[in-house]
Amino acid sequence: MVDEMRFDVVVAGAGMAGVVVAIAAAKNGATTLLTDRFTFLGGNATAGLLGNFLTFHNMKGEVICAGIPQEIVDGCIALGGAFPDHRGHLPNPYGNAYSVTPIDAEALKLVTQQLCVRAGVRLMLNTYTLGPVLEGGRVAGIRVVNKSGERVVRGTVVIDATGDADLAAAAGAPFQLGDEAGRTMSISLFFRLGGVDLDKHLAYVKQRPDQFMLGEDPYVGKSREEIAAGLKHWKDYPLVTGYYEAVKEAKARGEFHENRERVVFSITTTPGVVTINSTSMLGYTPTDGEALTRAALEGREQVKAVTDFFRKYVPGFANAFVLDSASALGVRESRRIVGEHTLTTADCIAARKSEQDIGQGAYCLDVHEPSGKIVHKHVRDGEAYGIPYGCLVPKQVESLLVVGRPISSDRYANGSVRVQAHIMAVGQAGGTAAAMCITKHCSPRDLPVAELREKLREQGAVV
Ligand SMILES: Cc1cc2nc3c(=O)[nH]c(=O)nc-3n(C[C@H](O)[C@H](O)[C@H](O)COP(=O)(O)OP(=O)(O)OC[C@H]3O[C@@H](n4cnc5c(N)ncnc54)[C@H](O)[C@@H]3O)c2cc1C
Repeated sequence: MVDEMRFDVVVAGAGMAGVVVAIAAAKNGATTLLTDRFTFLGGNATAGLLGNFLTFHNMKGEVICAGIPQEIVDGCIALGGAFPDHRGHLPNPYGNAYSVTPIDAEALKLVTQQLCVRAGVRLMLNTYTLGPVLEGGRVAGIRVVNKSGERVVRGTVVIDATGDADLAAAAGAPFQLGDEAGRTMSISLFFRLGGVDLDKHLAYVKQRPDQFMLGEDPYVGKSREEIAAGLKHWKDYPLVTGYYEAVKEAKARGEFHENRERVVFSITTTPGVVTINSTSMLGYTPTDGEALTRAALEGREQVKAVTDFFRKYVPGFANAFVLDSASALGVRESRRIVGEHTLTTADCIAARKSEQDIGQGAYCLDVHEPSGKIVHKHVRDGEAYGIPYGCLVPKQVESLLVVGRPISSDRYANGSVRVQAHIMAVGQAGGTAAAMCITKHCSPRDLPVAELREKLREQGAVV
């Protein structure tokens, strides 16, 4: 016989979207379960070794993400896992976002766990979600498996925070995947290098600003040279992207994979340690188990090749060594549900806002095309766009909300809204909405958005 448990709100997937959803639901009085396949919380931010949150500001420097996400950053600062400067959010001269928030994965694991426990969230780790429990057109719970065997967890509201909309898809909700041909962005395997002399690297940036992304958004209105001249410390350039000539030279010698024109890395709170985001596996569908295995194998080979590249070509990296590599592949793009509202490229670029918004986004529309080309579009005039509640509500399926990367959005809009600060803002809204559905005895589709917005404002969120 399959054991059963029951909660008001059941959250499948404990990436940063799922974590914030669960905290928000529990804080608003719902009995809440949060479950994940890993032994810790955070998803791509911890298992994927992502190393930073983008972005708590629009390009004007106005705060667009607050409430629970800021509590998480504050908790990491207290543990030394985020910089105390600017409440964790370092100015980002790259220009793809106003600020970047370097975050240590170990601090984040502890802080998210403590906030969940304090809010009264019931955690079920080392547990795989098998699929939804369906009753008519309604998701009535999830089926999970762990060392104790298989069980059903019933929920009045179920939240799909799997990052891939696995539950929504299995429940029959409509979705899109990738471009018109179903091709998705590249997958990456992050890793960390120790033994790095960042002063040497910064000296090179100042000498050759033409080799780096600096001031990319036209709103910045400054040349690369002007920006480089203002960099005083390696902390002043926390998200580095460039080394074009070096990559070109290494490619010509067969020493670098073909899928990138430049390398990317983030500083960390540990001096001499950086997080490398420069592997790139193309042509793998993230909802295909076998493809993910092949991507992981290719990723591991690329970690070695990219490390050799850094040691040979990048100033300050001659003595670098691999500290660790991620336990999860970094999947940029997967399913996107078709919701009651779909966020579009035009909405984002025009910085459109409405009375339906439950959060804001401002990160550039960042798409790694299947060809390997990286395309960035920018939100107009340094503004932010609104994220409507309907993006979380899948069509055709009741009692289900979808949060995180797969919310209803077109491809380029998703290239912006998928980043951590934006999905955490969406998470706070999703969890609060779920708890309100319990007290109001209504389905997520019928929740009055004006009341949700009011509650979110009361609880410190920016809507
Ligand atoms: C290569 C790359 C670079 C990026 N760079 C940045 C960046 O610099 N800054 C930034 O802010 N964002 C960045 N992002 C975006 C961001 O990391 C993701 O969009 C974000 O992690 C999505 O969060 P999520 O909570 O929706 O999903 P995830 O973080 O993927 O979390 C999903 C969780 O669900 C769990 N799960 C899924 N299926 C199951 C199942 N069946 N059973 C049990 N558990 C399950 C997983 O274990 C995981 O913990 C990047 C993403 C990638 C891939």
